[in-house]
Amino acid sequence: MTSVATTWDDLLVGDELAHLATEPAREAQTAPLPGALQPAVRDALTRRGIEELYAHQADAYAAARSGGNVIVTTGTASGKTLAFNLPVLDALAADRHMRAVYLYPTKALAQDQARSLGELGVAGVRAAIYDGDTPTERRRQIRGWANLVLTNPDMLHIGVLPRHDLWGDFLHNLRFVVVDEAHVYRGVFGSHVANVLRRLRRLARIYGADPQFLLASATIANAAELARALTGEDATVVQDDAAPRAERTVALWNPPLLDAELGLRASALGEASRLLAGLVGRGLRTICFAKSRKSAELIHRFASDRLDAETARRLAPYRAGYTPQQRREIERRLVDGDLLGVTSTDALELGIDIGDLDCAISVGFPGTVASLRQQWGRAGRREHGLAILVASEDALDQYFMREPAALLERRVEAAILDHANPRVLDGHVAAAAFEAPVDEGDAATLGPEALERAAHVPELRHTARGWVWAGKDAPAPRIPLRSTSPDSFLVVDSSSGDVLGLAERERAYSTVHAGAVYLHLGRQYLVRELDLQARRALVEPFDGDWYTQAKKETETSIEEPLRVERRLGLELSFGRVSVTEQVVAYQKKAAADGSTLDTVPLDLPPTTFDTEAVWFVPRPHQLEGLEAMPLLLSSLHAAEHSLIALLPLWAMCDRWDIGGLSTNLHLDTGAPTVFVYDGHAGGVGIAARGFDQFEGWVADTAELLAGCPCERGCPSCVQSPKCGNLNEFLDKAGALTLLTRMSNSR
Ligand SMILES: [Zn+2]
Ligand SMILES: [Zn+2]
Repeated sequence: MTSVATTWDDLLVGDELAHLATEPAREAQTAPLPGALQPAVRDALTRRGIEELYAHQADAYAAARSGGNVIVTTGTASGKTLAFNLPVLDALAADRHMRAVYLYPTKALAQDQARSLGELGVAGVRAAIYDGDTPTERRRQIRGWANLVLTNPDMLHIGVLPRHDLWGDFLHNLRFVVVDEAHVYRGVFGSHVANVLRRLRRLARIYGADPQFLLASATIANAAELARALTGEDATVVQDDAAPRAERTVALWNPPLLDAELGLRASALGEASRLLAGLVGRGLRTICFAKSRKSAELIHRFASDRLDAETARRLAPYRAGYTPQQRREIERRLVDGDLLGVTSTDALELGIDIGDLDCAISVGFPGTVASLRQQWGRAGRREHGLAILVASEDALDQYFMREPAALLERRVEAAILDHANPRVLDGHVAAAAFEAPVDEGDAATLGPEALERAAHVPELRHTARGWVWAGKDAPAPRIPLRSTSPDSFLVVDSSSGDVLGLAERERAYSTVHAGAVYLHLGRQYLVRELDLQARRALVEPFDGDWYTQAKKETETSIEEPLRVERRLGLELSFGRVSVTEQVVAYQKKAAADGSTLDTVPLDLPPTTFDTEAVWFVPRPHQLEGLEAMPLLLSSLHAAEHSLIALLPLWAMCDRWDIGGLSTNLHLDTGAPTVFVYDGHAGGVGIAARGFDQFEGWVADTAELLAGCPCERGCPSCVQSPKCGNLNEFLDKAGALTLLTRMSNSR
């Protein structure tokens, strides 16, 4: 195996190499096939050459057999699928009446799973996909025939639960609910899916069934908590990964500093293409993940330019929108060794089914350690592999380059959600009442919060049978699962008429205003028109080399502090706030160097939303020497930005899910105050996590500021790509002084 390693050693040299580590190989721990296994399942496994299990698969099987819920959170490619398939297939093979439903976040993943279930070929198992693409004439047949239905949360929410009368027999016999890729269900989406699963459980009970939930997730910090949050019930956690692992070399790669004072670095795309060309030129099969389609294509082009024509032909981009056949073709060419290098957007990481590659390059931290691990997991499954992170200038990326342990040794983030957020919950209470009257007994499945909210939902009426739906149409289709506001804006591609997505009203003005450059699944679009009446943004594909940043004025008012504690020498609060934002202009910025090309005024109304926030009022001694204006404001503002940049380390979320406000004098506190708030109306638990983890969060942030080599602040520390003040009034030194004093106040 060392023969492989030596082929990349000479590439990993120079100042760019910020860190090099080796993750040792690990032997498999196996267990015999369980004696109780149904012969049909045992035969199918034997035909596939599976004579024994990994220990965690046997553990999951045993836990499921004993009747409880289970969540499996072992690593990429550790056989999680078999871990939840075994108990399900076993039950279906044992009793032809039993039914199971598998939930996947995307259609492509459901297709992959259906294919592998077909290949496994367990006698008596009749699997079928039931999603938006299923022809109407097939649907009835599937409901009657299939005993394993693969679908997605949207279909369950709109197509299955409201029409449960058609599914009566299925629900009556529902034995297992499998939730694969459970870590995807976090934030707003997760908060909705948690309610969809509660509605499913309630209906199953009404039909006389009490299904077990089997979840599988990428490695996360809070598996038990996530399972409970999603289903409302406890689950056994299976997390000791017993799959074998080859040795893996991990390299953190930082593009060279061009201007230390400004914190300006060479392009991550250029560095990635150099590495990709170098590895492919050595005959190593490599996948390279970039954050946008444009970046992926540039890396592909730059790498091709570096190689001779013969080798360059063995590189290919891997795009969204490929048909399953095209994807299979690329995967096959990679496996055969005909293709050596593939560039892809990280939006596709979930959908790629490629066995053994030698190297994986991630260009820019993909936002969570879980998805970075998933990308890296493509490299060296069986033989010594190489995984590389090429840092962008983003604060979190640069922090990891200086503190590799924070990335490589620390526990991964927690996936958080809040099913009880009233903005999310109310719609599902209505949907549940439409499905069947909601009474006190439903608190056991829907949660006591649902009963409390019922009185607040205008279209519900209280009757002797409980809360019933008194509105006209079914409520579920009006509840989008990826938004907390029912009055979201549709984003429509005017060139094709396709709906690309939804923008929540409170964020539409800053993300899809006229003239904004909008990113969707790694592709760029230019917003032609934002129609406030029709709540629609018309966009068209865009190839320009600039991006946009909105300038907005923000105010917060404290509605209700819920928790107030003495922490780090000051008063730390968590509670409900109201945020008012008005987008007043936007800037066009050059993609190459971030320089401002133009500032364009906008005339948009203010928006107000309620959410959750964590806020603090520094003590006078912590601000000593920083009291003068504008130094005071600039120090607080810089502290707010860097805190926001690092919160995703603690709570699995995107920097864009968080907002902030800092002021030298806040009306409600009467003092200098820093707010960090949940960007989604009602809040999904992000600010709460910040409150709980405040000490570690502040310490990390102080470390980030202390370590950044720039002189007066840069995009890698205090500047933020989403600052409503366009990064004016930022004092790095002042922020560092304040945060260090706070950290030392333990
Ligand atoms: Zn800096
Ligand atoms: Zn700002």
